[in-house]
Amino acid sequence: MSETLFEKIIQKEIPADIVYEDELSIVIKDIHPQAPIHLLIIPKKVIPKLSDASIEEQEILGHLMLVAGKVAEQLNLDNTFRIIINNGAKAGQSVFHLHLHLLSGRTLSWPPG
Ligand code: AMP
Repeated sequence: MSETLFEKIIQKEIPADIVYEDELSIVIKDIHPQAPIHLLIIPKKVIPKLSDASIEEQEILGHLMLVAGKVAEQLNLDNTFRIIINNGAKAGQSVFHLHLHLLSGRTLSWPPG
């Protein structure tokens, strides 16, 4: 199976602006930011979308949430940010390698589009 875009970034085969990395995850700046701060929190293990995750991925899923909080703290986001997961093409998912969007730095309206 061909590598996902994010696997290529994880393998450092294509460049990205990496803001955090550990054994289970990597955090990069989104190339088309939708807010002054727009990060992607990506597991190193390929899970195509959230609804494909199983109990074996429970630790990874929890880890991604904790990384979001840690990075937000490091960037002094004042505990003000939004996490989004697009699940499936009709929900806006374009890269089929699970990732959390972290948006911050502007007023975030509700409901989202
Ligand atoms: P989604 O549409 O939820 O699958 O999110 C995929 C995100 O990846 C989009 O917000 C894109 O702007 C972003 N993206 C695509 N290519 C790159 C890249 N090379 N580096 C960083 N972000 C990217």
